[in-house]
Amino acid sequence: MNKPDCDELIAKLYQFIDGELSRDETVALKRHLEGCGPCLERIQVEERFKLLIKTKCRGEQAPELLVEKVKAALQAEME
Ligand SMILES: [Zn+2]
Repeated sequence: MNKPDCDELIAKLYQFIDGELSRDETVALKRHLEGCGPCLERIQVEERFKLLIKTKCRGEQAPELLVEKVKAALQAEME
């Protein structure tokens, strides 16, 4: 049940996490998150994932297999 707003949020997800969006865009996305559980969950998964990669790899590119494993683990943990 993806609303148009959700597509927009997903498109800007990484910029949002990195704090690269304008103030207006950030406010709009936060407002969307308040009313949209699936998007909120998604952003939490991505944030934790990013943090984990940063901690484990210290800026180096993570092997694709590891990325998939970590993502699967995070998803499972949230259920
Ligand atoms: Zn949404």
